[in-house]
Amino acid sequence: MNIQGELAIQCCIVCSEVDFDKIILGKSLADASDFRYLNERCTKFCYELTSCKKCGHVSIQTDNPCWLPTRKYDFIKYGEPTEHYPFVAEILKSLEIDFSDASIHTFSYKDFQLANFLRAQLGIDDANLVDWLGCSDDWLPTTQTGTSVTEPQPLRGFFSEIEKSAKTHKIVLITRFFDHVANQELLKKMISVASSTVHVVFDLNDYERLFALGTLEFIWNERRNLFRRLHLGHILTRENQRFSIFTYESREVSPTLTGVISHLLPKCDENCQTSTPNLNNSDLCTRLTSLRNRWSKHLINNHKLGIIGASHKGISLAQFILDSGTIYSLHDDKEILRYKKAPVSSPLGFHSVSGFDFSDYTHIAITTTLTIAAKIVPKLRAGGYRGEILDFDCHKLD
Ligand SMILES: [Zn+2]
Repeated sequence: MNIQGELAIQCCIVCSEVDFDKIILGKSLADASDFRYLNERCTKFCYELTSCKKCGHVSIQTDNPCWLPTRKYDFIKYGEPTEHYPFVAEILKSLEIDFSDASIHTFSYKDFQLANFLRAQLGIDDANLVDWLGCSDDWLPTTQTGTSVTEPQPLRGFFSEIEKSAKTHKIVLITRFFDHVANQELLKKMISVASSTVHVVFDLNDYERLFALGTLEFIWNERRNLFRRLHLGHILTRENQRFSIFTYESREVSPTLTGVISHLLPKCDENCQTSTPNLNNSDLCTRLTSLRNRWSKHLINNHKLGIIGASHKGISLAQFILDSGTIYSLHDDKEILRYKKAPVSSPLGFHSVSGFDFSDYTHIAITTTLTIAAKIVPKLRAGGYRGEILDFDCHKLD
């Protein structure tokens, strides 16, 4: 940040303009997945939610120089949707390549399940399951020579693995890369890997659908680009790529936007988005302000709030929705999080859910998936809890 406390503005990753509607998420926030061992300090940065006034692309800007946020330890793991895998296999089959002469390359642990699925479905023997993204600060560009910044070592390893493959065709998996990438050159470099022999499979949340659903629970400070289909298509076209994109929605997972980038795909109308799409989304900042107001009106004097679910949603609620005077505790039963330090300092501490006495709490926020919430609510009521039970968006859950 500069001395006025303002972030140095980066241009829009979609249209290169620098005029944004923006709202500060927080001036000193740890990454949402930054659970650490007790004796470690975490680094904090300023984060702003921005909406481009020209094209409507929504992004998170920050003074965190990291090229791509990584989880801090391998005990942090998030489940990703898998039901759309058969559609990915169908697109790859349409390329009509010889899969016995193809290799699979993963970018992070999030790709392993898809890699195993494609290996079985397409009969590919040569699958390289490597978590190049890893859990380290390698993605912070600390080594500078003159004006050029040295690429993170894992990135070089990833590209070198693809180059060295002896197979004619390479299938590269980059699950959740597009919404997390924080460096525009890295984004371009990843896209430019796709060719007539390298085929890139991506997926991310379908932010268009999530915006339409009205919830703000998908915003967290490690997701830097809330891409919509047309915006992503525009970038891919600008980088001279052909692609096939589809959206997928089910009751089990959040809406997903996924696809394949490959020169072997036919050129279709969607591949010709040369003019910048204008998808105005300026009300997102207003909606965030309204949600903050809704929570602060709800939590009046003598409130006591328990947040159940210390995943990114619970952390984001505490970090940039609740005001600084909120008296709350954070709760999670995951064994791996026991005795860890959470990314937020809850005034009432970080505890388990089971066995905890919520009887003097006025409110409970459940920020788990709806399926898990549906099991927790009746248990709380059966145990005699009489306060309000709310979701991330401050709506009653029963
Ligand atoms: Zn823009």
